[in-house]
Amino acid sequence: METNTQTDQVTNYVYIHVPFCLRKCSYCSFFSVNFSQEASSRFVKYLIKEINLFKQKYNIKPKTIYFGGGTPSLLTAAQINLIISQFDIAETEEITLECNPVNITNEFAKELTLTQINRISLGAQSFLDKELKVLGRLHKADEIRNAYKLLRAYRYNNISLDLIYGLPNQTKEDVEFSLDEIIKLEPEHISTYCLSLEKDVPLFSKIDQIPADEKVAEFYYLIRNKLISAEFEHYEISNFAKSGFESNHNLCYWNDKYYLGFGPSASGYLDFNSKTVCHPERSRRRDHLIRYNNSVNFEIYHKMLDEKKIMIDKIILNNDDHEKEYIFLGLRKAAGLNLEEFENKFKTDFTKKYDKVLHKFNNLLEINERTIKLKSEAYFISNEIFSEFM
Ligand code: SF4
Repeated sequence: METNTQTDQVTNYVYIHVPFCLRKCSYCSFFSVNFSQEASSRFVKYLIKEINLFKQKYNIKPKTIYFGGGTPSLLTAAQINLIISQFDIAETEEITLECNPVNITNEFAKELTLTQINRISLGAQSFLDKELKVLGRLHKADEIRNAYKLLRAYRYNNISLDLIYGLPNQTKEDVEFSLDEIIKLEPEHISTYCLSLEKDVPLFSKIDQIPADEKVAEFYYLIRNKLISAEFEHYEISNFAKSGFESNHNLCYWNDKYYLGFGPSASGYLDFNSKTVCHPERSRRRDHLIRYNNSVNFEIYHKMLDEKKIMIDKIILNNDDHEKEYIFLGLRKAAGLNLEEFENKFKTDFTKKYDKVLHKFNNLLEINERTIKLKSEAYFISNEIFSEFM
């Protein structure tokens, strides 16, 4: 592969997958393996190789960098610094580190202040110890509170907390309890997740104890109403933020921006704008976008980089795929989908093309000349609506 043909395509969003956990949680399908210092050092070495191979090809000027996982808080501050130093961060506004409460010791929180991390996403999930146990989390509720207080003490002023709902045998009171605890902490951002279980995770054995859809919908609207009353903006189906604290990184996905993903299992989304990878007929084709997925197999990932290759597993998105994704992601935002932007991108009139779907869901959609949005009562059944556009 040629590597000396940097394009003028600027890539502003960077995701780094840190593929280690201390122990697998019982509901989790994200890619991660057991942590060891040795594996972590090797990971950083290869990650830097990967970043530098991309840098020879793409002009990377991150507005956001997101360390996700896995458990990025297993990295040392020195490793985090080394990774960040590979990028030109002159224009970087947001660098997020996903953290597990068990890793937030006084020492780690203090060291973190020596890095450029300016946003923390803390995996709380629940404030009931019985639920944390079912989820296989390593921490108890008090450890979340302590971790949060430590981060605040070290002046982290942009903290997001995660909450999972729809757990086996969960009651409305259980959801309300965790939610009240989160609100008391006054984070800037809250991400909520409805539990969804793949067949191969241990918690799948309790799938018959998961509350019925109507109950889970009740939980969802309880969360939404309480957070809105606590002055959070519901800016995306699953995300809430105090004004000005939306996740800029996640907005890149919903706003159809290109991004690069580094690390095993990471994926990226790009214009096929390169001499070495473009189709010879690209200029005559509209299907020029790609998604690439890095291998989850460390050996394959290392081999690819030893051979100076990147983006081995690519999927070309044709115009139709792109359009569907654009609709699905755009409608997740409370701001909705911008019709003019849609028409400019896809050279088609949205309201004419999707007339039947718009008619079918007329009472669940809000349409004016400029935007189309889901009404709040449609949020919980959004997937049903999205599938009609597919
Ligand atoms: S810590 Fe996070 S990534 Fe790791 S197993 Fe638990 S949920 Fe999954």
